[in-house]
Amino acid sequence: MNLPKRYLITSALPYANGLKHIGHLAGAYLPADIYVRYLKAQKRDVVYVCGSDEHGTAIPIQATAEGTTAQAIIDKYHPIMAQNFKDLGIDFDIYHRTSDPLHHETAREFFTKLNDNGNLEIKESEQYFDEQANTFLADRYIKGTCPNCAYENAYGDQCERCGKSLSPDELINPVSTLSGNTPIKKATKHWYLPLDRHEDFLRNWILKEHANDWRSTVVGQCKSWIDGGLQARAVTRDLDWGVKVPAKDAEGKVLYVWFDAPIGYISATKQWALNTGKDWRPYWEDKETKLVHFIGKDNIVFHCLIFPVMLKLHGNILPDNVPSNEFMNLEGDKMSTSRNWKIEMQDYIDDFINKENGGSQMADVLRYYLTLIAPETKDSEFTWQGFQDANNSELVSIFGNYVNRCFVLMHKLCKGKVPPLHAEALTDLDKATMAEIQGTKEKVENLLEQYKFRDALFEVINLSRIGNQYMQKKEPWIVAKQTAENGQPTAEAQQSIDNTLHICLQLCANLAVLINPFLPFTARKMCYLMKVVDKMLDWDNAGKLKLLSVGYTLRAPELLFRKIEDSEIAYQLEKLKSAIVSREAAVVSKEPVTMEENSPKFADVKSEIVFDDFAKIDLRVGTIVSAEKVEKADKLLKLSVDLGFETRTIVSGIALHFKPEDIVGKQVTVVVNLAPRKMRGIESNGMILMAEDANGKLHFINPEGEINAGAGVS
Ligand SMILES: [Zn+2]
Repeated sequence: MNLPKRYLITSALPYANGLKHIGHLAGAYLPADIYVRYLKAQKRDVVYVCGSDEHGTAIPIQATAEGTTAQAIIDKYHPIMAQNFKDLGIDFDIYHRTSDPLHHETAREFFTKLNDNGNLEIKESEQYFDEQANTFLADRYIKGTCPNCAYENAYGDQCERCGKSLSPDELINPVSTLSGNTPIKKATKHWYLPLDRHEDFLRNWILKEHANDWRSTVVGQCKSWIDGGLQARAVTRDLDWGVKVPAKDAEGKVLYVWFDAPIGYISATKQWALNTGKDWRPYWEDKETKLVHFIGKDNIVFHCLIFPVMLKLHGNILPDNVPSNEFMNLEGDKMSTSRNWKIEMQDYIDDFINKENGGSQMADVLRYYLTLIAPETKDSEFTWQGFQDANNSELVSIFGNYVNRCFVLMHKLCKGKVPPLHAEALTDLDKATMAEIQGTKEKVENLLEQYKFRDALFEVINLSRIGNQYMQKKEPWIVAKQTAENGQPTAEAQQSIDNTLHICLQLCANLAVLINPFLPFTARKMCYLMKVVDKMLDWDNAGKLKLLSVGYTLRAPELLFRKIEDSEIAYQLEKLKSAIVSREAAVVSKEPVTMEENSPKFADVKSEIVFDDFAKIDLRVGTIVSAEKVEKADKLLKLSVDLGFETRTIVSGIALHFKPEDIVGKQVTVVVNLAPRKMRGIESNGMILMAEDANGKLHFINPEGEINAGAGVS
């Protein structure tokens, strides 16, 4: 294989308008990080860049909704996002941001070069204009009915229900999201990237040259775009938030966010070079650089068609591959920020990493499960049950258990030292196991080179499985009972024990090297236990049988992973359900109030039930006698509710809607025969009924005028 001289790896720039969820992590970040860690362990020249995408209409719209500025929004989310990635072990060489002056300068230079070379077209057209707000309505400033699926709140750039890319002209009944008025049409001038001029290039480059090495889902989507007819795409917008267009008569215009965002990869590389004293140019200009974009499938058109055309025109190298992932669903439904059906990285970090000592191991548990169910070729599904099973029955029972047994037995049967290998006493099983250790390297390597991360991880775990089986067959603890007159194992027995533990420990060291790209915190913990420096994790060491020296003393065993309890899973499921009921956290994607008021949404009517079903539910009127916040749970209140016949503790996900002191004395409707559930260690005995209004605010369901607590409701 001819190795590239250097690598530039990118992960899609996330929008700095809210917290990102684990579906994002699984799509564009974790696989890239695994790939980069693998390359770095091989001592290859590699730079991994990413950053916050801080332009686009979503950010100023959110600022208006939250009564703040666009700058305040990005300044709030950029550092949190950077920290979230770090906590989960995503090891960018730089996490830049597109609001940085260096980026503005880079994007303007890029545009100017294309414009000067005649690569862009200038066209005047009639576009929607809001007379009251005195502004053109780009992208998310306009809403209407989707021509594809009839969804009434489709944006001017995309329908969030069916996913179709739209232009404002395609919307039926367009409405300004600023004023709620019907917009008029007004002439304006914009710059366009004429993709149609590049059809032959794209056809040849993607559908011929990369037909076999790119994922078929990616090639398939590109083909349908190309076959559907490529059109000129506007690269400027009438807006004041973004990179100002560096051209004559471009007052009040900025670069379209999808023109400037991918250029962010270049500015990030420039900033990295400034920070490290390196030269950024070869990474974007030398053909011996391998450029790889990791993205989610919603970004295929931009990374496979538009940006490559821009790069070609600008004189840069083209991506060698664009590994795009499908979507990850959550507990049977699509992950969605607007519907609050998601697990934010921050939430996982709060609940599993920051809470415990050595919590970074829990970052690896998430990395493990997300790789195991990676949506590489089709949509996949995250379930908390699956997460628990993957941890308890694979990481704990197979990988962790193997490493632990090695250390325990080595201390018990070999005085805490790496025993010698007696070549003359090696059995066929010993030799076969040694061959497995040597062979795994190549298997993992081949899969990683093809971006098959899930399969590669399987091979690593499989080696620990082989280790367990080997140990089980050799039974050194039984062999140790073959004692001589002095009570010690016979010489022959000790040789067998030595060989078994020697091979087991070398396998253990190999596991650390091989697992390092996937579970970096675990690999480092293993190095600590083996008292070796991180340098042992160099990829070259994989497949070697002498990583640990004979006679070397190792540390006492420590568990690598802990079991995840049923109660933790129950808590997460409860949290997910209560979050979707009270959509308060959806503030990150809140739509302008004007639109919400115009179009209240109604949930579908659930399927029919018979009276007996209803009669099973015991509803009573209760009076809240006390309320307090639950520690470390910003959404939960612990309530005492007087039900007449008894007073109960009920935990309710309403803390963001009500202050404890305001609700004492209120009457509420309670489901009293719901099975008790533990939340944050508190047993909740019942559920309080709430109604949610069109603005997402919660209201109690209570009797008209005060009545006796415990009164039945039917
Ligand atoms: Zn639609």
